[in-house]
Amino acid sequence: MQFHVSGYSTKDPLTLPAEGTGVDRPDDVPEQVDVLIVGAGPAGTIAAAQLSRFPGITTRLVERRGHRLELANADGVHSRTVETMATFGAAHQILAEAHEITDMAFWKPDPKNPSEIIRDNSTRELPQDISEFPQVLLTQVRLIDHLNRFMKNAPTRMEPDYGYEFNDLQISENSDAEDYPVTVQLTRTLESGETEDVTVRAKYVIGADGARSKVRKSLGYRLRGDQANHAWGVMDIYADTDFPDVRKKCTIKSETGRTILLIPREGGYLFRLYVDLGEVAEDSDKSVRDTPLEEVIKTANDILSPYTVTVKDVVWNSIYEVGHRLADHFDDRVSEKSSGEHPRVFIVGDACHTHSAKAGQGMNVSIQDGFNLGWKLGHVASGNSPRELLNTYSEEREEIARRLIEFDKEWSTLMAKPANQLGSATEVEEFYQSTAEFNAGYMTQYEPSMITTEATHQKLAGGYPIGRRFKSARVGRVCDLVELHLGHQATSDGRVRLYVFADSPAPGEDSAVKDWAGWAEGKLDPTLIDAKVIYQQPYTEFDMLDVPAAFKPRVGHLDLVDLENAFGVLEGENIFEQREISRDGAVVVVRPDQYVAGVFPLTDTEGLGDFLGGIFPNM
Ligand SMILES: Cc1cc2nc3c(=O)[nH]c(=O)nc-3n(C[C@H](O)[C@H](O)[C@H](O)COP(=O)(O)OP(=O)(O)OC[C@H]3O[C@@H](n4cnc5c(N)ncnc54)[C@H](O)[C@@H]3O)c2cc1C
Repeated sequence: MQFHVSGYSTKDPLTLPAEGTGVDRPDDVPEQVDVLIVGAGPAGTIAAAQLSRFPGITTRLVERRGHRLELANADGVHSRTVETMATFGAAHQILAEAHEITDMAFWKPDPKNPSEIIRDNSTRELPQDISEFPQVLLTQVRLIDHLNRFMKNAPTRMEPDYGYEFNDLQISENSDAEDYPVTVQLTRTLESGETEDVTVRAKYVIGADGARSKVRKSLGYRLRGDQANHAWGVMDIYADTDFPDVRKKCTIKSETGRTILLIPREGGYLFRLYVDLGEVAEDSDKSVRDTPLEEVIKTANDILSPYTVTVKDVVWNSIYEVGHRLADHFDDRVSEKSSGEHPRVFIVGDACHTHSAKAGQGMNVSIQDGFNLGWKLGHVASGNSPRELLNTYSEEREEIARRLIEFDKEWSTLMAKPANQLGSATEVEEFYQSTAEFNAGYMTQYEPSMITTEATHQKLAGGYPIGRRFKSARVGRVCDLVELHLGHQATSDGRVRLYVFADSPAPGEDSAVKDWAGWAEGKLDPTLIDAKVIYQQPYTEFDMLDVPAAFKPRVGHLDLVDLENAFGVLEGENIFEQREISRDGAVVVVRPDQYVAGVFPLTDTEGLGDFLGGIFPNM
């Protein structure tokens, strides 16, 4: 990781020098902001963390809670989310704290004595080579903490603004022509307990305010889908139990079709039980919410029979009611409140889609929503990119949410079926395994748009499917001979990345990559584009004198040379072979949210220039 870029500081090196709106950042939310984010859950916080690296704009993250989140909700962290958190410098901490899972154990009624459960089998969560990171279990509180630290250390010095509740918003009629067309009414609760009305004018608003989103309602949108909710008694507990798989992730199905999802938690002792309390009509009297904890514990013991759980301490418990629902739209363009061609208000996360707890999607998908939107808003609000870029948020994420909800419905229905109604004894496990990559977010593939090219040159880099997430691989860095993951050299600084895979001549010799570098030098703005070169030769066989200047940009106030952008292959782990890269070379363009935007031949500098110019016209 790079720091002290503009000279040595004796303070915490991870705290970047304050810049722009981070210098003398006001404590209170100002009357005028560029981006106002409502809700400091996972979706809003990751968008804020990404925007914290855009010091030219004012972003504020308002949250009605008066304090940091302490206990709550999600705990299933997909490896795709760990990959994402790596760009916020938090993967190693998450892995140090989390409980790793490799398998899901399936328990079912014993055919000889259906009132008791037996272990059916255990299924791998994901193919091992899908990511270098594992699937883990960790409270969402810690993910948010790590994102908050990134934000606070960023040049903007951002922190959540606790104690501000969103009430409503209006959008000016002529929103395309106005700078701050969205007027937002908030109520602020002071430490004394008194409240005051606060009005903020914003260029853009993100509604990340959860399933009962007032931002969504203020646009006149509804969540549509299931008529009924499924209710779960959820408890994080310390307990004595003779259930042998208490440290494994388990799906436990009783004779009646009632299920428990058992989630071992971080730290070695804590575990969570999601106890199935059945379907509840949406217009019910909500009495399920009054289900006493003792009843949830008794139901758990009934399902687990012949095993028992004797609870010693309940750290957190809740009745969680949720259905499969999707918002009408993910931005304001079709709202009656809006008349603009380009969006001004967005909804992300649970505000626009809700899922069952069974597949552990909610937090993971919400994080990808916020990650998708953050960099786009950062560049548009900073004046780097055209407003059309913002249309791609809903175009990309609505489709993903719709497909995930369809999948989740299928999975929930299958899980709810009594054992005697299943097609085969292994139907549940087979479905789980066959859909695991989809559920974990690896099948997300964005369609061609201004930020995703057609697959014209896909064959030059077959292992980097266009529209899919960039899958890391190991390489050797030339300047210091360190072997590392190429994908981990990207930080969430909002830059587009060019992975320039060289053609076969030795570094320093005349080659297509040398010509490419000649074209790129002075043309690519290193504050917007991060270009890295990967040669076909082993990294020990050449040095930085052989690497063209385009890959050695000057950075910071001291105009220092960045030497960390040139790599060679490892013996026995050749990235060209692993990712099916042509020996004629290729340029793989990767978006700030880690999705492959396109593949270009080294010789097609005109095509690459046009594509990048569409995103950054002033470059
Ligand atoms: C019991 C439970 C277990 C879950 N388990 C999992 C799991 O294992 N894996 C998984 O992926 N997902 C799980 N989920 C779902 C997951 O928690 C959500 O999908 C995820 O938190 C959604 O993130 P979000 O940021 O969209 O919304 P939220 O996390 O709901 O955050 C919304 C934020 O907005 C704030 N807010 C709301 N209204 C306002 C307002 N008017 N003004 C200002 N602030 C406001 C709220 O206080 C909150 O902080 C679980 C959920 C629950 C309830």
